[in-house]
Amino acid sequence: MASGYRGRIAPTPTGYLHLGHARTFWIAMERAKEAGGKLIYREEDLDPQRCKNEYADAAMEDLKWFGCRWEEGPDVGGPHTPYRQSERSRQFLNAWEKLKDAGAIYPCDKSRKDVANAARAPHAEDNDAEPIYPEAWRPPAGTGQDAREPGASNWRFRVPNEREILFDDGRLGPCEFECLRDFGDFLVWRKDGVPAYELAVVVDDAAMDITEVVRGEDLLISTARQLLIYEALGLKPPAFYHTPLMVDTEGQRLAKRHRSLSLRELQEAGHKPEALRQSEDWWSGLDD
Ligand code: GLU
Repeated sequence: MASGYRGRIAPTPTGYLHLGHARTFWIAMERAKEAGGKLIYREEDLDPQRCKNEYADAAMEDLKWFGCRWEEGPDVGGPHTPYRQSERSRQFLNAWEKLKDAGAIYPCDKSRKDVANAARAPHAEDNDAEPIYPEAWRPPAGTGQDAREPGASNWRFRVPNEREILFDDGRLGPCEFECLRDFGDFLVWRKDGVPAYELAVVVDDAAMDITEVVRGEDLLISTARQLLIYEALGLKPPAFYHTPLMVDTEGQRLAKRHRSLSLRELQEAGHKPEALRQSEDWWSGLDD
């Protein structure tokens, strides 16, 4: 029986994919398969400064080499075409407008550096944590509501003052985040005219009828932020399943700097995908 499950993998072509990406995407594929559903490939190529066609082509080739398969995507088409975010600006602009009309977002002229200098870090021990945007910098309610286009400003989502975001993760169970403690007003639109990740991903997951989002657990806070966007847009959120991050032998999380673990180099060195999936690296950090 055909199931309604729709999962997705969403690589950003800013470098070669590594084994950690492959593992997350593999888990996404397995979950779609087990549910008798479909897997969608979406290219998250929004940032014109950092994304390159060369990496976009490589991502698809490397994932195919690795054994990943999808039912819809930029190469095979499908009912929700286009599957490249750079070709979906209309949808993002519509969402910007809805959020703006609802008073959920405001224009902001502070730079990342201003925020980093002024803000308190949410978790001092976590260097990756984004600093919290100072509440004192929020403009009065209604600011920006008469704008006709985003223009050359950043736009931020006005996070509710007292609010806990609760969701049930498919792997981690109940998750809880508190607005203004764990994260503050976050970017939804960049002044260079590009929608921010948080907005684009919600718009596309909803438009593509995604029923479960499988991604790395470094994005748990993003999930909390995205749930606020779903709510503000009146959209039903999907289920979430966050995978553990792959670590190297020193316990460091894999990043694009681990060139030796890029799928490309592993392939060139003669490794076989089946063997990689049995390797210690594959199992590192997997606790279930
Ligand atoms: N393009 C994002 C990344 O590569 C995907 C995040 C997500 O799955 O929502 O990190």
